[in-house]
Amino acid sequence: MTKPIPSQASAVIIGGGIAGCSVAYHLAKLGWTDVVLLERKQLTSGTTWHAAGLIAQLRATKNMTRLSKYSQELYGELEAETGVATGFRRNGSITMALTAERREEILRQASMARAFGVEVEALGESELKGLYPHLNTEGFAGAVYLPKDGQGDPANIALALAKGARMRGATVQEHVKVTEVHETMKGGQRVVSGVSWVAEQTGESGFIATDFVVNCGGMWAAELGRKNGVNVPLQACEHFYIVTENIPDLARLPVLRVPDECAYYKEDAGKILLGAFEPVSKPWAMHGIPEDFCFDQLPEDFEHFEPILEKAISRVPLLESAGIHTFFNGPESFTPDDAYHLGEVPEVRGYYVAAGFNSVGIQSSGGAGMALAHWMEHGYPPFDLSDVDIRRMQPFMGNRTFLVEQNMNKWYGDFHVLRDINLTVNRGERIVIAGPSGSGKSTMIRCINRLEEHQQGKIIVDGRDAETFLNHVCGAQMAVPPGRIVYTQFLNDRGGIEADVTVTRLSETRYLVVTPAATVIREMSWLERHRGDHAVALVDVTAGEGVMAVMGPKAREVLSAAAPWHDWSNEAHPFGSAQSIDIGLGQARAHRVSYVGELGWEIYAPTDQAAHVFETLIAAGQGHGLTLCGLHAMDSCRIEKGFRHFGHDITEEDHVLEAGLGFAVKTEKPAFIGRDAVLRRREEGLTHRMVQFRLTLLYHAEPILRDGQIVGYLSSGNYGHTLGAAVGLGYVPCKGEDAAGLLASRYEIEIAGVRVAAEASLRPMYDPSGARMRG
Ligand SMILES: Cc1cc2nc3c(=O)[nH]c(=O)nc-3n(C[C@H](O)[C@H](O)[C@H](O)COP(=O)(O)OP(=O)(O)OC[C@H]3O[C@@H](n4cnc5c(N)ncnc54)[C@H](O)[C@@H]3O)c2cc1C
Repeated sequence: MTKPIPSQASAVIIGGGIAGCSVAYHLAKLGWTDVVLLERKQLTSGTTWHAAGLIAQLRATKNMTRLSKYSQELYGELEAETGVATGFRRNGSITMALTAERREEILRQASMARAFGVEVEALGESELKGLYPHLNTEGFAGAVYLPKDGQGDPANIALALAKGARMRGATVQEHVKVTEVHETMKGGQRVVSGVSWVAEQTGESGFIATDFVVNCGGMWAAELGRKNGVNVPLQACEHFYIVTENIPDLARLPVLRVPDECAYYKEDAGKILLGAFEPVSKPWAMHGIPEDFCFDQLPEDFEHFEPILEKAISRVPLLESAGIHTFFNGPESFTPDDAYHLGEVPEVRGYYVAAGFNSVGIQSSGGAGMALAHWMEHGYPPFDLSDVDIRRMQPFMGNRTFLVEQNMNKWYGDFHVLRDINLTVNRGERIVIAGPSGSGKSTMIRCINRLEEHQQGKIIVDGRDAETFLNHVCGAQMAVPPGRIVYTQFLNDRGGIEADVTVTRLSETRYLVVTPAATVIREMSWLERHRGDHAVALVDVTAGEGVMAVMGPKAREVLSAAAPWHDWSNEAHPFGSAQSIDIGLGQARAHRVSYVGELGWEIYAPTDQAAHVFETLIAAGQGHGLTLCGLHAMDSCRIEKGFRHFGHDITEEDHVLEAGLGFAVKTEKPAFIGRDAVLRRREEGLTHRMVQFRLTLLYHAEPILRDGQIVGYLSSGNYGHTLGAAVGLGYVPCKGEDAAGLLASRYEIEIAGVRVAAEASLRPMYDPSGARMRG
């Protein structure tokens, strides 16, 4: 039963696949009872109807694990709640590794999942055989089993969500297409004002006034976004499975994944569904999805599937005699980094997106819908979702040639196109480190010795109100003389860290904000949304300058040779200041800062001169042990020094005081975003603290054990070549405790199932006083 389409709604959801139905369900559950979901054809007629229906919980990061666990729990209860038979059953799932690297990966994911209350066990070969008797375990390197993982009927799960939304007042209307998302200007910003729709069967049309639109258009989402200049980078690709004939006496089996053979197996009603994670994918409908697409399939491509089938027959030999009942090929949308798109887009306020699910939209949509509804209700997500936040997408990622090429090399391939593009765009950005021969650092640099891009985003804030505006947005004091560099955070109202930046005052009215390139869109959006009536212009100048960081004990010698007109002494060019320099035949700015904890300068040169400046530095470095280094080297150095990495160690859910960055927040300033939350936490005391750990070996995201109990995770980790040990950072709960109490405990890190003793410190283990940087 449907209701008439209203002319006003608190939110309009575009698309009735599982994502749209989940968003409608969760908004309605939060009390948004007048939401409207419009579907151009029938519910689930896009990609959702033909999914294989695997619902797994093992994910690569902690918050993705939280969301997939939520989906699994929600789907388990939907049938009882709505009366729609979802076919959901918890028959468990196994992931089998065939290489030592894969074993490591799944055991690490398992450690993380366990710490979130996901039931998971490591399996030996004979236990695996016991759970899956038809399996040929040749090449076995390891396996994990999640007994609560499930499978279900995707279309019915979506229909159950739609029914749950309707039961709470939502309007869910089929055969109605959204033709346009309307915008207006409010407070100098583009904001959503409504949608136009047309009914497929009657030709009737109308307008719904609303402040919130959610683009859940699946593979249509990119085109829909383009109509408003909204960047939703994704590309439809062909995705395959086969279903066997009935196999006599086939008992119930858990889902089996063998990622090293790009295959998964699902027993369903006496048949086996064999699905593929294509190592080389096939983009589809590059010039637009056919208007009449509805419950459609794509032509079989046996040649494409055959290599996977061959391996599968050897892995599960009963397939050989089973006979193929169905060969299924359907389109699914894929994104440049294999993570879906969630959240409010940077271009238009009130325009949200949940799309691009990379073949895991069924298992993801429960959690994604819950998170998005929270985001719309509160204006921020329930926890850090930067893995999937749409603001991580750069404008060039919406380029259609890029999307097609990027998708050709998915899953277990390299993201090579992405690297090449960034290398070109940010040409000239290199890390250069000078170290004395034989010192720890230079040895480390030589052994890593990779030339890689280190990308930085750059935003100019220019205008009469630049100082007042930045003082409103930043925790630190921005009323500094021109030439001063300030390390600061953009805080949210909860004291969480929205951005971790350096701000350089270039003149009375002009500042340069330097951010990681990966988050520059997010930072621009944050600044724009808080600009209000301040008279400032914001310009993304990332591509306008290249940056070369000259870091290490001999940085002064190298730079003196490269730019002899400049006085590089401590007195003339102290830490935290920026000055113009002549270098070779070029002109640049030298910023005395360091993310690696060494004496050094970052040299900012206009892009047209960057190559020349780079060559000048290389020539000047001859004889001083100058070596090119990459991101890996930089990360190794920064973690020894305990410098936080945004997106890992510090996110919007991490309070700036608990992150140990209180020194950068100046509450003497009368007002700025987050000030109250900082004062409050100071009063109430910290509940967590960022701790540095030293141990023999780690990657990152491993559980932290305090006196034998899991209390948190490492937010980042790397090998510290000067400390001669692995180094990790992570938060440890500390309510009511002082530093001595916190450190008095015994700490271990669980690495792929094994507990390893770790030394803990609240001060950086490398150069705690910072003397090397300031020397
Ligand atoms: C072969 C195959 C197997 C898969 N197996 C699994 C699996 O085992 N587990 C798993 O988790 N995932 C699986 N997936 C992925 C999963 O099916 C998708 O990720 C998921 O269905 C995407 O849902 P969606 O709501 O984003 O998109 P869709 O289901 O495509 O929904 C988008 C909807 O938007 C509508 N729409 C578009 N434009 C408009 C407009 N202008 N106005 C109104 N409506 C509009 C479309 O008609 C469509 O119904 C599989 C996919 C394939 C192809």
